[in-house]
Amino acid sequence: MKTGHRYKPATLAVHTASAADEKIRPLCTPIYQTATFHLSEKVYTAMKGDRGRDGYIYTRYANPTQNAVAARIAALEGAEDGLVFSSGMAAISSSLLAFLQPGDHLAYARDLYGGTLSFVQKHLQTLGIKTSAFETEEADSLRKVLRAETRVVFFETITNPLLKVADIAELTQIAHEAKALVLVDSTFATPVNCRPLNWGADLVIHSGSKYLNGHSDLICGAVAGSRPLTDRVWKNLQAYGGCLDPTAAYHLERGLKTVALRMERHNANAYVLAAFLEKHPLIEQVYYPLLASNPRKDIAAKYLEGGSGMVSIRIQGGDARALQMLDQLQLINVASSLGGVESLASMPMNTSHVQFSQQERARMGILPGTVRLSVGIEDADDLQQDLEDALQL
Ligand SMILES: *Cc1c(COP(=O)(O)O)cnc(C)c1O
Repeated sequence: MKTGHRYKPATLAVHTASAADEKIRPLCTPIYQTATFHLSEKVYTAMKGDRGRDGYIYTRYANPTQNAVAARIAALEGAEDGLVFSSGMAAISSSLLAFLQPGDHLAYARDLYGGTLSFVQKHLQTLGIKTSAFETEEADSLRKVLRAETRVVFFETITNPLLKVADIAELTQIAHEAKALVLVDSTFATPVNCRPLNWGADLVIHSGSKYLNGHSDLICGAVAGSRPLTDRVWKNLQAYGGCLDPTAAYHLERGLKTVALRMERHNANAYVLAAFLEKHPLIEQVYYPLLASNPRKDIAAKYLEGGSGMVSIRIQGGDARALQMLDQLQLINVASSLGGVESLASMPMNTSHVQFSQQERARMGILPGTVRLSVGIEDADDLQQDLEDALQL
């Protein structure tokens, strides 16, 4: 690859340098399945300077297979540096705690992923970190919660399950004026559809268990940003121990090579299904960022180049009818999670948002009959037929 040239995501996903072994020169990254490495002067020096990332010492600190896939993710996000983790939650907890201390304040989007929300509300608050929620789509609500102690503003590019799209540049500008760092969970968007760092965000975080790996067979996480920031997050990766096993890192890299190709199909299929469902008499509402009926379509189009592989719908007849529909699906699997090659359907009311009452969910905009579809890469006609049949009760 030419140095200094700005390649597009589809190229970077395939070609970013693998862990180089100068003697053997493998095309693909080998699995360095080792816990430890031979010590040397270079390693002793790195350890002395608390720079354990710079020489291979021990796989919780760094490993060539981890570094290769982290570099590929960083390249895709347009970041200087990247890190990989044993899960998305390890990436999120290590990142938030890298920039928040007792007495500090965090502003977080109200509709964050459930696991993150519970980490923020239960764990950070017990540690003496103050937190306030703001609305992803309302910049003013962020302005209102910012204080002198606000160190971090945290939101998601696309929210679950209503697929609201954050105005990343606007939220970032507001946060930066208050001297807060901006952390963005971009799991739903992927670096193919959106690169938050290009819009000013400081650190981008992924659950790699979803689209980055893309095959529903791995739990992993990633962080990308500037080296001074990732160095701070790395200290927590080392301290809390959420390191990615080298074999899992290899599988993540293998999955990642096709991320651009997969997203193209996820996006296209999701658009086809969203348009079909919008016309279906039993569907009350379709949530899809790029539909003309989305009042914030312009914002969505600005940030999501290819759209989104996720579609949510609200079925007439409420939760009972929606459950019946799920039961009738023959092709689309009823399972939680998202971002794999196979289509999945699930309901927030008995999965991600089960801990809320129906009234609380309604206040969040999640009305009875809401179903979330993670649209896979199957043939769009087959998927559409499966939905059409399941809706014909
Ligand atoms: C799944 C998910 C997470 C958590 O990731 P894990 O890999 O399951 O730990 C975080 N954020 C979002 C948006 C997710 O979808």
